[in-house]
Amino acid sequence: MSSKRFFFFLVLFIPGSLFSQENQPLPTSVTELSAGIYRILYVGRVSMVAFNGDDGLMLVDAGYERSAEEIRNELEKIGAGNLRYMINTHWHSDHTGGNIPFGEGVDIIAHEHVNEMLSHDQVSLGQEKPAFPEYARPNITFSDRMSIRFNSETIQLIHVPGGHTGGDILVWFPLAKVLVMGDLIFADNFPYVDIEHGGSPVQYVENLRWVTENFPDDVTIIPGHGRIYSMEDLRTWQSKLQKTIDIILEASDSGMTPDQMKELKILTEFADYGKWWITEEMWIETVTESL
Ligand SMILES: [Zn+2]
Repeated sequence: MSSKRFFFFLVLFIPGSLFSQENQPLPTSVTELSAGIYRILYVGRVSMVAFNGDDGLMLVDAGYERSAEEIRNELEKIGAGNLRYMINTHWHSDHTGGNIPFGEGVDIIAHEHVNEMLSHDQVSLGQEKPAFPEYARPNITFSDRMSIRFNSETIQLIHVPGGHTGGDILVWFPLAKVLVMGDLIFADNFPYVDIEHGGSPVQYVENLRWVTENFPDDVTIIPGHGRIYSMEDLRTWQSKLQKTIDIILEASDSGMTPDQMKELKILTEFADYGKWWITEEMWIETVTESL
């Protein structure tokens, strides 16, 4: 399948709940993970983290521009203070869109790739994404790591090499042992990898392995999409994804084309991971396209 057709295919299969343009408030919930650290979940799929305390409020990711009303309602429920910092785990609009309604006068922190992406018009999944106004772009950027002392935590921001996009970061709260992984997790599903903007499926899975070796076993892991993970959940998902990549690489080495791989259903053992957005066929396309 050509990459143009692949994009058409992707657009057809984007879940309506994530990308609809409707304006009525949509189901949103909030869960406390640790003292002052909350996960907000929009339409059961898109997640962000609110960290509230004596110094005020920090948001890690901020949903879409259009989910501001729902997020404000949840922030009210937790008695959130003044918004001081926003952190973007990567540039996609379901994570940065909230910079527009929430970002005026707020420090926005991200990897420098995010600023690069949001400073210019982009096309993502066949949709045009206009450049953000200056106030809504990250005003504090970094290339490798940085840390922020806030609400008695020393929060660490850690860039990992191009996996989901070229500007992915992990956000680590060491006292609470909460790790926000953004779209380096699509829990229990094949992940979407933005190859056009610096992502790589092989590196994606390698980054997951790195996390399993560098964070404690009792960590609480917050994905960009899907259920909260334990370290054990992450290990299981990582090793299965690694298996799928090994199977595809082996098939490719033996001269099989992506169409033949799909016809032979070489990933049928992992069919459960293809039920939401990225199907078995799309994952084969993603991995072979990156070879
Ligand atoms: Zn994303």
